[in-house]
Amino acid sequence: MEAFLENARIGVPLDKTFLEKIRKEQIVKNFFKTTRNKYENPFTAIAELADNAHDADAKNFSIDFYKPYYGNERLEFLDDGKGMSLDEMLTVITNYPRTRKPAGKIGRYGRGLVCATASIGKVFMMFTKQTKEENEVSYTVLMVSHQFHTDYVLNDTIYAPCLSYNEKFELVKTEDVDTQNLNRYIMEQYGPVPISEVKSMLQKIESPNGTLIVVGNLENGVLDFWNNPHDILRNEFQHKRDKSLREFLKPLYLDAKMKIRLRGADIYPKKVCEYWAARFEIDFLFQKSWEEPAEVVTVHCGIEVENRESDGIHFYFNGRLALFGYKDMKFFKEKSKRSIGFTAYVNLNGEKFQPATNKVGFSIEEDFQKLVRKIDKAMNKYYEYITTFWITYTYFNQQYKDQNGEELIELFWNDIGYPSAFDPHCPREPLSSKAKEWNLKECGVWIVCCKCRQWKRDHLPLDPNFKKEKMHCSQFHYGRSRCHSLVSDHERFDVTLREWKIHQKVLAIKKEKAEKEEEEEEQVEEVVEVQGEEDGEIYIVEDIPNIERSDVMEEEEEMEEEPEELDHELWEEEEPEEEEYDEEIMELTKGRERDDNDNFEIAMKRRRDLEDLDEEFPLR
Ligand SMILES: [Zn+2]
Repeated sequence: MEAFLENARIGVPLDKTFLEKIRKEQIVKNFFKTTRNKYENPFTAIAELADNAHDADAKNFSIDFYKPYYGNERLEFLDDGKGMSLDEMLTVITNYPRTRKPAGKIGRYGRGLVCATASIGKVFMMFTKQTKEENEVSYTVLMVSHQFHTDYVLNDTIYAPCLSYNEKFELVKTEDVDTQNLNRYIMEQYGPVPISEVKSMLQKIESPNGTLIVVGNLENGVLDFWNNPHDILRNEFQHKRDKSLREFLKPLYLDAKMKIRLRGADIYPKKVCEYWAARFEIDFLFQKSWEEPAEVVTVHCGIEVENRESDGIHFYFNGRLALFGYKDMKFFKEKSKRSIGFTAYVNLNGEKFQPATNKVGFSIEEDFQKLVRKIDKAMNKYYEYITTFWITYTYFNQQYKDQNGEELIELFWNDIGYPSAFDPHCPREPLSSKAKEWNLKECGVWIVCCKCRQWKRDHLPLDPNFKKEKMHCSQFHYGRSRCHSLVSDHERFDVTLREWKIHQKVLAIKKEKAEKEEEEEEQVEEVVEVQGEEDGEIYIVEDIPNIERSDVMEEEEEMEEEPEELDHELWEEEEPEEEEYDEEIMELTKGRERDDNDNFEIAMKRRRDLEDLDEEFPLR
């Protein structure tokens, strides 16, 4: 068989009947023509490989670049996920375009893997290790080479040679020796690493299960491996997420369960709402079409106070980032400078919303535009909350009560360290101790526990003796801090919202009161006029019946009252299972885990008190 290939002159099509005979894999039409340009940004292709590891429940994923003394440069992606059997590996190729991802997963193997690697380099080799229950170790190697297909004019066919090895790294002989020899031969000729190095490549997978993907014949000049030994750069870009792979990967997942290592240095993930002030949560119902049931979409809003250039809307699918800082919507255009720092994220159900095949944006533009319009509305609502309540009452504590909330935004930015409030490139000045304290209280300190890899929020400054990377749950300051405890992500998106509602209620009562008083005054005036004409006395004023006024007062006092004690459990029980959703934007009362923050407890109590007010004063 080797002789056969050797004899087949390059440029002359392979004998079709021969290929039919040896090929188990399915024909994939125009494979290389259609796949390579899907990932215009090679970072998104690399993220696709990270997804595969993430979906395979890997705890570690590393990206490395090699420049061997002789031979070609290559990229290596190693994970300690489930690994794959030979059958599963073949599925990677044969099930290409039709793989259906299991619920909750980001897109395990299938089209993503092959397309993604094809857009980084012209050849990829996959090494995978699986350990069965009886400690039986098996290795599988698979390769797809663009050059092989070009040389033998296999335009509409993809042929991926596979080999299996045992735990001693010996080739597992198959019945079809000819095919095996041919596979070996093709790998030797076209593989990114020589076949003699297969053993050392397999040895790199130290965990019981895992996958190593090697991509060779890298696309020329697209990626810069030389200017930063711990990063991969795209120099033609300005924004740090476009420029640096490290920055690109930081906010990729909402969870932090998989540790990503890039060229020898761990990537500390970015909590997307890490530096958000005035967190606020808005839910709305979204219906793609009349036939489909409506989906609840939650918009988590905030003001990004640390990296103001990271504002805009971040779209996640099943916890995986698909669009970062989207701003092509009315809210950001109309509010212009005043929208600086305004940000939100939505985590969409990947079963209901399909991301585009390269996971940048949406597969259906119409759905996306419809969703954007809804989010636009939500952002306007959020802006209203900020300008009519948060900035005046919460942040400035009524210090500038008479000033317009819109004007106060400028003052707010100055106050927290931005001398030029509306210049997006203005860096933040070193913080005053007051601003530092506020920052800590408002945003907290977000840490990924090095043991359980859960995000936890602390509210005290980091102990300088601790390295953030090495901190684990029991070193945090807040009370219930066990590893793997459900107490995670104290994001507090719904607390301030409640305060706003109290505020709205109080305003409504005050207005009602004022109106009544006005009415009464008018009455008094009338009476006085009448009485005055008769006997010139005004004693009647005191006797004017003050209808319902006391009731209003009581109600108001009740609401401003501080809670004596919070029975968290009770609140949980009282929470309604399902609320009726309005057509338009409305908020849900969601149970949140308790926080050490005092305001939180007060808010929880208030939240309970306010259950009945929700209906009276819907947020719109
Ligand atoms: Zn932990």
